Amino acid sequence: MLLVTGGLGYIGSHFVIVALQSGYDVVVIDNLSNSHAHTQQHIETIAQSHFQFIEGDIRNKSLLERIFKQYQIDTVIHFAGLKAVAESVVSPMRYYDNNVYGSLVLLEAMQEHCIQKIVFSSSATVYGEPQYLPYDEKHPTIPINPYGHTKLHVENVLQDVCQADKDFAAVTLRYFNPIGAHPSGLIGENPKDIPNNLMPYIVKVAQGNLPYLQVFGDDYDTRDGTGERDYIYVMDLVQGHLAALSYLNKKGFHIFNLGTGTGTTVLELVAAFEAANSVTINQRVMPRREGDLSKFWANPSLAKTELNWQAVTPLHVSCLLNS
Ligand code: NAD
Ligand code: UDP
Repeated sequence: MLLVTGGLGYIGSHFVIVALQSGYDVVVIDNLSNSHAHTQQHIETIAQSHFQFIEGDIRNKSLLERIFKQYQIDTVIHFAGLKAVAESVVSPMRYYDNNVYGSLVLLEAMQEHCIQKIVFSSSATVYGEPQYLPYDEKHPTIPINPYGHTKLHVENVLQDVCQADKDFAAVTLRYFNPIGAHPSGLIGENPKDIPNNLMPYIVKVAQGNLPYLQVFGDDYDTRDGTGERDYIYVMDLVQGHLAALSYLNKKGFHIFNLGTGTGTTVLELVAAFEAANSVTINQRVMPRREGDLSKFWANPSLAKTELNWQAVTPLHVSCLLNS
């Protein structure tokens, strides 16, 4: 049985669908700080299957202990965390508390209940300023913001735990830029505040909820001057987690990039979205956003050879609002 932390959030909810469809029993813990309780019904409708949802915080150790006593959890899929880079610069302590301390409490409770398998949601942010591209897993990790530091801290803790306990298995997945939603249209990226990320912002503009897209900088060293990223369809990303689950039979600490291997600029993503959904996205070029890197994308070949996984969905399909 899986414990999925943050399982009602954007990526977690898509993962729970494929986990249920693959026959896993699932318990979700989520404090709803960036998600909605009604997402449970949507997941269950899509998957035609039920799971246990516990509203609570991973920093609540006694709650985790109750969960580990009550359910036969053997593996944790750890999505819970805060993820807004700019917010982490303003409120670093909130990020260390939630992401680092929260993971420590979770790991401690896991150890006390002899649960020795975990998949951890990390980020390409851990790499920092590209020394070469595409980033492979051996690229130096020098994050440039507190959010990235928190992810790297947890990676280091997991590595040390695996070193100390030879029966422990941890797979760290470094996501590039997840986009899109389940084809049913029932769930998707639905942040509680104004989106920070490009794709959900474009969606809000398309729906008329925001007046125009702010294009942060058009003077980068890229094809059209706008920032370049590796956008990966969320359903492909969660398939990578299923592959990681199988990989947990190998003990020790493992890191994999989950990306497509292709860079797309802001203007290219907007154009793909407009073509896929027959809409026009109003846009204005603004100054660069502080802390943004010019361009980066993944070398996903390790995940292909080791996990037997690769992203398969073309960009125009990932951009579809509803299929
Ligand atoms: P999300 O905010 O949609 O989901 C995170 C979920 O965790 C939310 O439902 C939130 O309510 C919950 N949560 C947060 N702190 C919690 C706590 N202390 N206890 C219990 N629940 C808590 O974010 P997401 O996009 O689904 O991201 C999932 C994970 O993937 C995060 O760890 C994030 O850092 C990582 N990640 C995301 C991206 C991205 O672009 N979306 C990229 C790289 C890595
Ligand atoms: N971006 C933008 N407008 C927005 C949000 C993002 O132009 O409203 C740009 C941003 O500068 C970057 C790219 O889109 O070049 C991806 O940004 P996002 O925040 O989605 O991902 P990250 O920067 O964390 O990789």
